[in-house]
Amino acid sequence: MDVGHTPDSYGALSARNDPEFGFNFRLAKLITAKLRSEGFAATRLLVTDGKARPSLFKRISAANEGRADLFLSVHHDSVPDKLLETWEFDGAKSYFSDRFSGHSLFVSRQNPHFATSLMLAQMIGSQLKQQGLHYASQYTLPLMGRYRRQLLDKDVGVYRYDGLIVLSRTRSAAVLIEAGSIINRDEEMEMNSAERHEAVAGAVAAAMREFCDRR
Ligand SMILES: [Zn+2]
Repeated sequence: MDVGHTPDSYGALSARNDPEFGFNFRLAKLITAKLRSEGFAATRLLVTDGKARPSLFKRISAANEGRADLFLSVHHDSVPDKLLETWEFDGAKSYFSDRFSGHSLFVSRQNPHFATSLMLAQMIGSQLKQQGLHYASQYTLPLMGRYRRQLLDKDVGVYRYDGLIVLSRTRSAAVLIEAGSIINRDEEMEMNSAERHEAVAGAVAAAMREFCDRR
């Protein structure tokens, strides 16, 4: 269970100026605890430090040397800078965009186990859908620019992201989840709620059971 980003290179900033790394850490820790309590005793929480790019290679080495069977990277979403609007939060000029919301799942065709990665991502997406959650559909839109992605599963929101290092260089099947948008003011609050944490952790655990049954 890979915690996206590091304390030094914290990823996105939420609408209320809270770093993404903290959201990733709290959620990944919960998912790890949930998986362990359901019998996936070997689940490991992977926290990496340092600068952004070296940290990507550190996490891949840790996963590959630890002979991970599966790799799930946990992130929280934002929007391209040009979509940001300003508001005042806690007396400071802050940025937000309420235009998009929802989770999304990414897999790479360059991963040596692409088909398995896709299957796992679809299972997680399907479980999230059963929890009543919707996926972020904006990644197919031209306004996403260099963040635009091919939608591989339009039912449950799995996108193709070939070049992503943590998905393409891991030797195991690998999936990246953007659990929700923290630049969206309402969804940021939801991403801090026990209900949403439980929904995501429950969905991942249910998908893991289904994945193991299928295998
Ligand atoms: Zn991120």
